Amino acid sequence: MTTDSWGFETLQIHAGAAPDIATRARVTPIYQSASFTYEDADQAAASFLLEDLDSFAYSRISNPTTAAAERRLAALEGGRAAVATASGQAATTVALLNLLRAGGHIVASDQIYGGTTNLLLQRFPELGIEVSLVTDINDPDAWRREIRPNTRAFFAESIGNPTGAVLDIPAIAEVAHRDAGVPLIIDNTLATPFLLRPLDHGADIVVHSTTKYLAGHGTSIGGVVVDGGRFDYGAEPHKWPGLHHADVGHGDRSYWERFGADGLAYALRLRTTLVRDYGPAPSPFNSFLLLQGLETLSLRVRQHVSNAETVVAFLARHSLVERVHYPTAPASPWHEVARRLLPRGAGGVVSFDLRGGRETARAFVESLELFSHLANIGDVRSLVIHPASTVNSGLTDEQLHRAGIGPGLLRLSIGTESPEDLVRDLERGFAAADGVTARAAPVAAAAAP
Ligand code: PLP
Repeated sequence: MTTDSWGFETLQIHAGAAPDIATRARVTPIYQSASFTYEDADQAAASFLLEDLDSFAYSRISNPTTAAAERRLAALEGGRAAVATASGQAATTVALLNLLRAGGHIVASDQIYGGTTNLLLQRFPELGIEVSLVTDINDPDAWRREIRPNTRAFFAESIGNPTGAVLDIPAIAEVAHRDAGVPLIIDNTLATPFLLRPLDHGADIVVHSTTKYLAGHGTSIGGVVVDGGRFDYGAEPHKWPGLHHADVGHGDRSYWERFGADGLAYALRLRTTLVRDYGPAPSPFNSFLLLQGLETLSLRVRQHVSNAETVVAFLARHSLVERVHYPTAPASPWHEVARRLLPRGAGGVVSFDLRGGRETARAFVESLELFSHLANIGDVRSLVIHPASTVNSGLTDEQLHRAGIGPGLLRLSIGTESPEDLVRDLERGFAAADGVTARAAPVAAAAAP
């Protein structure tokens, strides 16, 4: 059966899976086994030498349930190969460490998830890896200015969390390739491949927190790295020693020599060195839950987008809202690039600046009943959080300011509920916020000269 002509809705259900050969089970079973038996001693040795890439040996390296999810995610992103990880954080970590070692340098957008900022600015320097952040993310010169001889990767989010900054992927991919000679890695968590496929626009590697929209049910932490298989690591071999030197125990030829022509060198090295040695493998049970979620991805994302657009229109009219951060919101600086790259919509994360700052934001969050107050996005349930005091609390005031995260910023992850119920719940929040503003007003007036 050829899958080349399948549309997205078909791929999200069928890609990478077929009735189980052993039992004829229609749905991919949970292969909850740590290890798999070798046929004989020769096959055991071939497995360690990476000569047998089809069999399974140990679930820290690969597992049949996880492999079905990986094949499906590679198909949905239009990639050559995918490697699943235990979390989105792990996916970003190994995607970068597959290109970098001590002495290396990353150029990254500063419009990114707070946990990734912690990884880049706090953990990587401890390993001797330097990071420069770019604020004006769609100015090619801003990226160009940060390039150093030891730069080995560009990193950004397709839609930034929480401010909805949309990266001009074609423009920044060109700088990465032509000026820096390095791959562009895109965290595509907020967009999902249904709204945007970064590899189609020139990016080289995609990472996801599958915890979010891809799984969609808020049950399981997970991540994935999808490689496009097109970046030419042979052009400047000295930059990529990990790909150009033989790895102990894997024979005497390098990953690039053995798998470069097939576009598999990056993904295979990531799986058989970084995931094998650092160990962030997903559980087969979580991979099964991810597969269930993927089957309805496009249906859910359509409803997330439609609900988000209803909420954005409501927020934009409200007198307590200073500014709505959503790529297609009125006055959004990301309008033009969103129109080009996100014709199906800009996802379900909507942030806004509430007048009155932190205390008003607190009253707003605590009065909501339908929106759950928690640190996650991409669930079918609607969610709310105050980033400055929670997911972005690791940032300095200066970094918060540069990332556009003010004291009154609230992040909503718009779920798939009935939109009128969401608007009604937000009205409850504004009523509580209004109470705080009204109480504060006489004090402010008394303090005025
Ligand atoms: N990338 C983005 C854009 C995220 O929002 C998150 C988590 O919120 C992550 C990566 C990290 O993913 P995980 O929580 O699955 O480790």
